[in-house]
Amino acid sequence: MPVSNKKISDKAIVDAAKLLRKGAKMLSYYCPECHFPLFESEGRIFCPNCEKEVIIEKETEKEEKKEEVKEETRSNLLNAMENAVVRICELIISSNSPEEIKTLSESIEKIVNAIERMRKVQ
Ligand SMILES: [Zn+2]
Repeated sequence: MPVSNKKISDKAIVDAAKLLRKGAKMLSYYCPECHFPLFESEGRIFCPNCEKEVIIEKETEKEEKKEEVKEETRSNLLNAMENAVVRICELIISSNSPEEIKTLSESIEKIVNAIERMRKVQ
């Protein structure tokens, strides 16, 4: 389960999907409050779940370079998972079934949690 007790709303996932459609970038950083992936658009970084701008500190970058081989495998996997999230977001946009959207949203939440756990492993 996520560390934070803040719930990721279905609306946030739909908003995230819309952002991706508009060309926003999903970052490899997470909202400090709700652990939802952060998005960058027009130079702004924000959390669709909290619906506010977030300032991130890129202090972990140096440490991650230490273990390059392991890191590469892990980042490939993370990329694949992030791509899966994007694909599911696209499915949500094109779906008209509330049931389907709910299922897809739950899938995203699971993947996001898995990504989050992987990022914590050093
Ligand atoms: Zn947030």
